[in-house]
This record gives sequence, structure tokens and C-alpha cells, in this order.
Amino acid sequence: MSIPRRHLAVLAALPLVLTGCASASGADDGTVDVMASFYPLQFVAEQVGGDRVSVRSLTPPGAEPHDVELSPAQVSRIDGADLVVYLSGFQAAVDDAIAQTSPAHVVDAATEATLRPEEHEDESAEEHEEHDHGDVDPHFWLDPSRMPSVVQDVADTLTEIDPDGAETFAANAAALTQRFEDLDAAYATGLEQCDSRTFVTSHEAFGYLADRYDLHQVGISGIDPEAEPSPARLAAVEKIVRDEGVTTIFFETLVSPKVAETLAADLGVEAAVLDPIEGLADPDTDYFTIAQANLDALRMALSCS
Ligand SMILES: [Zn+2]
Repeated sequence: MSIPRRHLAVLAALPLVLTGCASASGADDGTVDVMASFYPLQFVAEQVGGDRVSVRSLTPPGAEPHDVELSPAQVSRIDGADLVVYLSGFQAAVDDAIAQTSPAHVVDAATEATLRPEEHEDESAEEHEEHDHGDVDPHFWLDPSRMPSVVQDVADTLTEIDPDGAETFAANAAALTQRFEDLDAAYATGLEQCDSRTFVTSHEAFGYLADRYDLHQVGISGIDPEAEPSPARLAAVEKIVRDEGVTTIFFETLVSPKVAETLAADLGVEAAVLDPIEGLADPDTDYFTIAQANLDALRMALSCS
């Protein structure tokens, strides 16, 4: 397990806080107070922590997390949390808040999930030079095989905070890891034999999923869901749809489907939902129900047998 730099600083200060760690700084009801930066990490913290934790998300339910802004009250809740679980490089406001505050423990999913460089299909090499290099594609949670290492880090850190919960956290982490492994196997089998391997999405959230299951993602807008596609990009996507016989253009639940729906109508193909699991639009769903719906949608669009 790699330990983030901030975490080391926390460990160095540990003798000072060790005795009061779980009880003094915990939530009022005696549970471990966890702040998660957005839904998939909230889900992991809830599943691993069970009733020994109270988890709040910094991204409101149903909101799109990329450009989240934090209130001063949220920043001070980060400061007072027993544990913050976040993904560095994904939400600038959260990165800033963590740099300004000193939560007792921090898990940065980016240190566990092995992030890959952001791809820019729709820009020239010259344009790319202007970017801040080191940009990575944040959407690792859409590849279920990358989740267990984050699960383990959360379980290990919760155990440091609340040693009495060690067995609970270990059992919950093992059960959750098994579910991610089962899901990974279902995707691998379900996407093995398909007539097409190219899918078109509104924002490029599915790069890790595409890599894992040997598919090709074509994004209408880039990594940022709010980015407006250029006319040149739209023309390029249209050509791919025609040349490769793409049957479906996917849109998502938390961002306006207008561009994808218009394009699908223009090209005479279906428009359907592929959910990047960045937040819950429907409280009766969770990570696994959405991931299963995504698999079903991909199998339909790609004519998998
Ligand atoms: Zn995204």
C-alpha cells in the first residue's frame, strides 16, 4: 500500500492525537465521521464502514461532480472530519480545501487506482502542449477491477481510526471486493462476443472501461461533461457513426442530453443512457445496479451475444 504524502504528515503527528482519535473527533453519535468527495467513493466508504461510520458526500445528490464548489461550511467539515476520501486531480475545489485544512486522515483514491493520462482525441498536439501536463483521466471507478485497492485503503484507514471495528471493516471490504470482482467477470463475459466494439458517449468517462474490455470509446465532448463540442468534433463523430455502423449514441443522467439527442436524431440512430456513475440521479439505484444497467445498454448497442 502506498501512503499519500499528506497521510505521512498525519502519521508523524499521530502521538498527539492517538488517544482522542475515534471518540473526541468522531461524529456526535460515536461513529467515524467520513467526508467523501463524490458518489463512488461515498459508496465505498458506506459499504466498508457499515454502521460504524457516518458518510457525507461533498457533491450533492444528483449533482455533477466535476465542477463542484464548496461552501465555507463544507470546508470546515472537511477540516473536522475523521476521514476524507477523495480523488486528487478530479475536483479542484476539493483539492484546494484539503490543501487548506488538516483532516485527521485522508485517503486519496488516485494513489491506489493507477490513473492513466487523459486522452485528447479532439485536439491537435499543439493544443495539447498548452495544457498542464500530468492531467489524468479521473474516471477509474468505471473499471470495477480498479476498485478493490481503494476498498482496501479505506478499510485499512478506518481500522487505524477505529481499531474496534477491524473485523467488521475487513469482512465488509472482502464482501465488497468480491462484488467488484464478480462485476468485472460479468463485463468481461458480456462484452466478449459483440458485432461492434465502438461506442459513442457524450463525455469521455468510459476510457478505463473501454481499455479493460477491449472497446473503443468515441466521446462527443471531452473529459469535462460541460465542454461544448466543436463543429469539427461533431463532424468527426458523425463520420465514425456512419463508417462503423454505430447504432446508439449514449448520453448520461446528470448532464443535459441535448447534444447527444440532436446528433442521434440527425443520424437516425438510437439515443440511450450510459451512466458514468458520478452521482445518483435516482436514490433507488446504487453503483452496482447502474453498472449492470450500463452493461445491458452496451450489450444492446454493440449487439453482443
Ligand atoms: Zn466525468
